[in-house]
Amino acid sequence: MDIDLSPEDLAFREEVRTFLTENAHKPSEDYMKWRLNWFKLAREKGGWDVPKWPVEFGGPGWSPTQHYIWEQETAEHSIPWDLPFGLGMLAPVLMNYGSKEQQERFLPDIRDRKVNWCQGYSEPGAGSDLANLKTKAELSADGSHYVVNGTKIWTTLAHIADWIFCLTRTSDTGKKQEGITFLLFPMKQEGIEVKPIITLGGAHSVNMVHFTDVKVPVENRVGEEHQGWTYAKGLLQHERTGLAGISRSLVALETLKEQAATVKRGNGTLMDDPAFRAKVADLEVDLMAVEFTELRSLASASSGSDPGPESSILKLKGTEIQQRIQKLTVEAGGLYSAAWGAAQPGHRFARGGMSGYLSSRAYTIYGGASEVQKDVVAKNVLGIKKSSK
Ligand SMILES: Cc1cc2nc3c(=O)[nH]c(=O)nc-3n(C[C@H](O)[C@H](O)[C@H](O)COP(=O)(O)OP(=O)(O)OC[C@H]3O[C@@H](n4cnc5c(N)ncnc54)[C@H](O)[C@@H]3O)c2cc1C
Repeated sequence: MDIDLSPEDLAFREEVRTFLTENAHKPSEDYMKWRLNWFKLAREKGGWDVPKWPVEFGGPGWSPTQHYIWEQETAEHSIPWDLPFGLGMLAPVLMNYGSKEQQERFLPDIRDRKVNWCQGYSEPGAGSDLANLKTKAELSADGSHYVVNGTKIWTTLAHIADWIFCLTRTSDTGKKQEGITFLLFPMKQEGIEVKPIITLGGAHSVNMVHFTDVKVPVENRVGEEHQGWTYAKGLLQHERTGLAGISRSLVALETLKEQAATVKRGNGTLMDDPAFRAKVADLEVDLMAVEFTELRSLASASSGSDPGPESSILKLKGTEIQQRIQKLTVEAGGLYSAAWGAAQPGHRFARGGMSGYLSSRAYTIYGGASEVQKDVVAKNVLGIKKSSK
């Protein structure tokens, strides 16, 4: 889709294109060496290594349109993929609510990609209803540290994380949201046990994490005691917008079309098959509609507003579209998509197709399940009130 860009934005797009053409990963390069160098060069461009960070923390201070251009352009190139936990989730919380000491202590390592963080929000019994969380943090008698006990679940990459940002319960009185405290602590210490959960696609990315008498110094508390819900909530809106992945879906859909055009069907290819074409067209129309929604949210962000509840529309529709692309990829790969393990017959693109499809089931669960996003949209975007029946 083309949008009217100002001459400044067009010049910026050219600058981004040149930077990407010169520096995106080329198959012949050593990936890890290239990755480090990428961040160095991107930093030298004026904070392009942390595109979403504000200027006062070393970011580029781009307008929403510039961010949109960056997303569009980078989706088509091989640039380093970042884990969102430190850079995109914790960093904004620290910038907004952390002490100066915490900002100085944690932000540089996040920026340098030296420390892996994980997100300790969900618990058995506290997912959609997150405020129901029970992991307890008790302040010691001398007020120097908290003692944390409880269990987190679905903690992505907890097994390789160095630190966790964790929602804990510090009070049982009053509203559930009012007794939550936001703590930071290292993962590699006594009292923390990480148990793998193998998901449908056969991958180990999520875990169950048990805390037994884990000591957390009081200076590792972000903001005020009992006020963690406020900090946690803001983070979720940003997380949801990020999960929609619209630019990536635009590229993935084009790739799917190219792949389907290599699959023989009758005298032509799968892309000549009217039934398959209809499904692709349907997907393309929906994707265009979500793209327009993203542009509307961009326009509101240009006038200084936060992502707001509209981020739930993007999360809801964006993740469904990602799943539909995975489903059609499996369909295009046919039987070969189901091949598992070392032997990989058939179309090259079909490899891992089924595993990708099964893993994509989680897209409409994490970051807030689709049913919950629908509730948010109904209440806060459409203004529909709950029936009193
Ligand atoms: C792959 C993956 C990675 C994850 N990574 C992390 C992570 O790193 N850190 C972390 O803290 N969490 C993580 N999560 C947890 C995720 O945020 C939760 O799974 C999600 O919030 C849903 O909670 P739940 O699993 O407890 O399901 P539940 O809340 O028990 O929901 C079960 C079903 O009931 C529906 N439902 C619940 N409430 C309502 C309602 N009010 N109205 C209508 N329907 C409702 C849900 O939509 C869902 O279909 C991850 C999850 C997955 C699958």
